[in-house]
Amino acid sequence: MDKNKEIRRIGVFSSGGDAPGMNAAIRAVVRTGVYHGLDVFGIYRGYEGMIEGDIVPMSKRDVGNIIHRGGTVLKTARSERFKTSEGRKTAYEALQRHKIDGLVVIGGDGSFTGGKIFHEEYGMPIIGVPGTIDNDLYGTDYTIGFDTAVNTAVEALDRIRDTAESHNRLFLVEVMGRDTGYIALNTGIASGAGAILIPESTIDLDVLMQHLEKSGKHKKLFSLIVVAEGNENGNAQQLANEIKKRFPDYDTKVTIIGHLQRGGSPSAMDRLIASRMGYAAVESILQGHSSKMVGIQNNQINLVSFDDAINKSKEIDMLQLKMAGILSL
Ligand code: ADP
Repeated sequence: MDKNKEIRRIGVFSSGGDAPGMNAAIRAVVRTGVYHGLDVFGIYRGYEGMIEGDIVPMSKRDVGNIIHRGGTVLKTARSERFKTSEGRKTAYEALQRHKIDGLVVIGGDGSFTGGKIFHEEYGMPIIGVPGTIDNDLYGTDYTIGFDTAVNTAVEALDRIRDTAESHNRLFLVEVMGRDTGYIALNTGIASGAGAILIPESTIDLDVLMQHLEKSGKHKKLFSLIVVAEGNENGNAQQLANEIKKRFPDYDTKVTIIGHLQRGGSPSAMDRLIASRMGYAAVESILQGHSSKMVGIQNNQINLVSFDDAINKSKEIDMLQLKMAGILSL
């Protein structure tokens, strides 16, 4: 790592899946850059906009009034072209035209993979900020958007609980998270679900039903089950079908929260971590770091290599799943 005094112009962009709080990160990057006397450019639509040269200068006023807004003002995209060397060459030429000599990418592991390759090919310094609702990145306790997504899901569960109270029903509520169970685990615990089904753990349907019957003895008339979309035993609808087949006495209802979890005003927590991470990203690039992701662990900012962030997996805390089972009885 060399102290890199040469960086004068940085570009910031969001890439891959959108997540609430990305705007707070963009704001932090722009204002920290301006504070350090850098010229800051916004690159629209991720790597796709970079290839097309959709790049505009951003002043600190351009990021006013966005900290509370969901989505990303710079838009986001997936770019197949950037996966080709031709596409990356075109992107590099566009950056050169604007004399951009450093990048901050807000996205997930796919975006960091692209950034790592780009750095290897062109030596372009690049720092990543973890923006994904799934919270599945190694090297950070939280990713931007996760807290908002969990809050949205918990609010939905609270509403379902209200309407469910007088029925002897099983409510299966599917939440996002791709192939990880972070959203499901946190949502399940915070909403007091009867069971939580995540991809990291297999569950026997008979054991699940016994568990619910046990709670039924205590006059519980209904049960809320949180199912992660990537659940091993199938998604919420498949599980409901299986339960209906094997336990016909149960009336099952399925709710898929879906894209509601991606939208909405970011929670205070997401605004806070996005601000800290965006600020740290600019500080890090000025200190000469590259091909690294800014993370927060034990409430401290830290840097982790793109290699580790992409390849290592963050283990879910199975003790919390066990605890959730105990608390739901
Ligand atoms: P996320 O960043 O949320 O994981 P994606 O996996 O869709 O989202 O990745 C976002 C973008 O990153 C892709 O559309 C592509 O432009 C770029 N990218 C992903 N993988 C590669 C790769 N192997 N080489 C170059 N670019 C990549």
